[in-house]
Amino acid sequence: MTSVLLARREFLRRSLLAGGTATVAGSRMPQASAVAPGPVRVLCWSERTEPTEVYPEGISGAIARHLDTLPEVTVRTASIQDPDQGLAPSVLDATDVLVWWGHKKHKDVLLDRVADVVSRVRGGQLGFIGLHSAHWSKMFKSILECTGNLGGWRHGAGPEHMKVVAPSHPIARGISDFTIPETEMYNEPFDVPPPEKVVLFSYWATGEQFRSGCTWTVGKGRVFYFRPGHETDPVYFHKEPLQVVANAVQWCAHRT
Ligand code: ZN
Repeated sequence: MTSVLLARREFLRRSLLAGGTATVAGSRMPQASAVAPGPVRVLCWSERTEPTEVYPEGISGAIARHLDTLPEVTVRTASIQDPDQGLAPSVLDATDVLVWWGHKKHKDVLLDRVADVVSRVRGGQLGFIGLHSAHWSKMFKSILECTGNLGGWRHGAGPEHMKVVAPSHPIARGISDFTIPETEMYNEPFDVPPPEKVVLFSYWATGEQFRSGCTWTVGKGRVFYFRPGHETDPVYFHKEPLQVVANAVQWCAHRT
């Protein structure tokens, strides 16, 4: 190899490291930082205890169907029945954001899979979105190091009025205040670390209130909790909750 070639390679290396544009022999090299990222790779996970008359494909499937219509996302689903509970290292290697719903099988989720997810979130390789009863999941509690306890809850609580309290946050993009017709109520206090941002806040006519859309940064990873999603209410067939999750996917993947 000639010294001219070596010098040229070193010039290219230094230029790319500096984020600059190197021009050699009339050809322009792309900036290292200008390489367009591919679609966000999402894994929608559910334990699949949702009633099939409400969610024939699970909450995971309902959300995946919406995300699959978006060009900037690729999506797969997984459940606790899959090999390695749908969380094999090779699957997580190909996942940018994990969307998690569970209720009755929290205790069955394997600790080594929890540890792997927590490590990836802290390392910034994986974003995490916890939905509704995921507040008591091993994943959520381990990532945020909290109990996730609630001040109370009640089935058949009627409409949930959701207010956008951080309208400039990327997760609120295109979202105005909205109402979900039938919900299970959660009440404060919600035992979590202080959120980085409360994006959405819920209240019911009976007086209860809840921080329903919260963000945290854990290590290098981004985490979002979204309250709606009781399995007997068809929440994830409504436009606004699906839009919130789609926005949160982009935010948790560090794209917004
Ligand atoms: Zn519930």
